[in-house]
Amino acid sequence: MPEHIPEGKIAEIKERASIVEIISDFVSLKKAGKNYLGLCPFHAERTPSFTVNEEKGIFHCFGCGTGGNIFSFLMRANQLSFPEAVKELAKRYGVILPSRELSPEEKRQRSLKARLFEINEVAAEYYHRVLISQKEGEEGRRYLVRRGISEETLAAHRLGFAPPAWDALALFLKKQGIPINLAENLGLILPRKEGDRTETHPSFYDRFRRRVIFPILNEGGRVSGFGGRSIDDGLPQGTPKYMNSPESPIYRKGQILYGLNAAKGPIREQGRALIVEGYMDLLSLHQAGIRNAVASLGTALTSSQVALLGRYTREAVLVFDADESGQKATQRSLELFLQEGISAKVVSLPRGFDPDSFVRQEKKAGFERILAEALPVVEYILAQAMRRHAGDTVEGKVRVIRELIPALNGLKDPLEQNLYVEKVASRLGIKESLIRNQLKGKEPQSVEVRKTFPRGPAHERLLLQLMLMRHQDIPAVGRIVGKEGFSDPRHKKLAQELIALWESGGKVDVQELLGRLVDEDLKSLISELLLAEESLTDADRMLRDCLRKAKLSRVRQEIQLVDEEIRQRSRQGRESSGETPGLKELLKRKQRLMAEQKKWVEESLAGSWPQAGQ
Ligand SMILES: [Zn+2]
Repeated sequence: MPEHIPEGKIAEIKERASIVEIISDFVSLKKAGKNYLGLCPFHAERTPSFTVNEEKGIFHCFGCGTGGNIFSFLMRANQLSFPEAVKELAKRYGVILPSRELSPEEKRQRSLKARLFEINEVAAEYYHRVLISQKEGEEGRRYLVRRGISEETLAAHRLGFAPPAWDALALFLKKQGIPINLAENLGLILPRKEGDRTETHPSFYDRFRRRVIFPILNEGGRVSGFGGRSIDDGLPQGTPKYMNSPESPIYRKGQILYGLNAAKGPIREQGRALIVEGYMDLLSLHQAGIRNAVASLGTALTSSQVALLGRYTREAVLVFDADESGQKATQRSLELFLQEGISAKVVSLPRGFDPDSFVRQEKKAGFERILAEALPVVEYILAQAMRRHAGDTVEGKVRVIRELIPALNGLKDPLEQNLYVEKVASRLGIKESLIRNQLKGKEPQSVEVRKTFPRGPAHERLLLQLMLMRHQDIPAVGRIVGKEGFSDPRHKKLAQELIALWESGGKVDVQELLGRLVDEDLKSLISELLLAEESLTDADRMLRDCLRKAKLSRVRQEIQLVDEEIRQRSRQGRESSGETPGLKELLKRKQRLMAEQKKWVEESLAGSWPQAGQ
């Protein structure tokens, strides 16, 4: 573990935290007997196989095999490290974690990022104050009023204005004692070329000048970067209307969704997200009361953005301007949704409108009307393709099918895929088989994404269950079966983990183990074993039976190995027609093993218990 979490804290968090409560932030759960059931957030499914058990503090998806505890859930759902997940839960449930000495490199990294966020915060405050209360901000205020942005929206999204001066921000940051190189690192200010420096043109100048500023917040609400829109109509050639912060340690293009921090609550409440392109689109929608909207800040969504959204919802509606709807880039980003298992729909606005102008004219009600007409991705691509290619000619049909294949392949639900194949075939007036032949593997892909493992011997599963639930049984299993004694490779790995944990401290914290393990297959095995319905009544007798079976199968295996060795050696001996070295020893060993086997068989029959360690 890269970072030490003090003993007992994990247990304290686990005691206070509710796994049902945490997971309910992501999945809507329904009670079913002792467990809660919901649709798995980690794979696309229609019938719930995602199981949560409050009492045991475990979740397991019987569809895709993902499983673990409250920590591993948060790690996966929010892409956190184990210490980060622990910290988040500790904060939420009021468990105080003592701070720990960081390594110099960690300190440097952490303090650099923290410093960068702080500087962005200072800059955002500065721009905001200029906009709302200073004289230089007046033209910015006028511009936003003209665009119909209210004071509330302006405050809620912390809009700002960068004054026209070359070094307004640079001077302000200097006055705040902020190191110039850090502000440069963030791209807020830029160094001026040596020869260009004069009294009136200092060595650094501001990136954003005479622009309305949109702070780009990450999902946690911290300022990662900025966007700036020029209000100067007579821009010199080549000056972009919109300008964003460059990449920095805290801002990665294509990995952030503008407005997500404000929209994430409404997205979860409503179960779906709207995706628009620009800052103004987002602000106008939020202002009109459509608060589940985020902006991609670019026509083509990236897979990181789609995955980010996938952590909050399984349903998305993309809102396009009429003129961008036919673009190739758009179509590719639609396929990303299918791959991510998010059901996506598309709305095309009437010609001449963007979401901003549309919602200002038609208001919330008008926007909702048009949302109701949203087309599922495949139908949308079909409609677009039919429009572009003459769907009544042979060549046209071929082109339409070619454009549709990636989207059809992306559909993970075979039922859905089948229905669309039928629909497309009938729309084009062709045989379904002509489409089916083009699909991956010709057959619809199976929705089954579970990695299948052989179940492994039942007595091994039971032993592992006993070790997980009755830690006091671990030493006996370690002594009698041993670290190598499990035949199934996954079983062996888990047994080794548990025995090693016990040996290192005489106790085992399964919750911590689940958080610490990186091996998804092992986590899945643990949650599955813990959720299994097999009851452990008369556990002592069960332990003895399983130990005997394990020991016996181990002895049998060894006998086989010795037999094989004996066969090989005697063959070699015959070929060299001489002595066979070591054969005697092998035969003796076999004899000992046979005797041991006999003893274990007899003990099994008698139901009694041989001395441990034999
Ligand atoms: Zn699943």
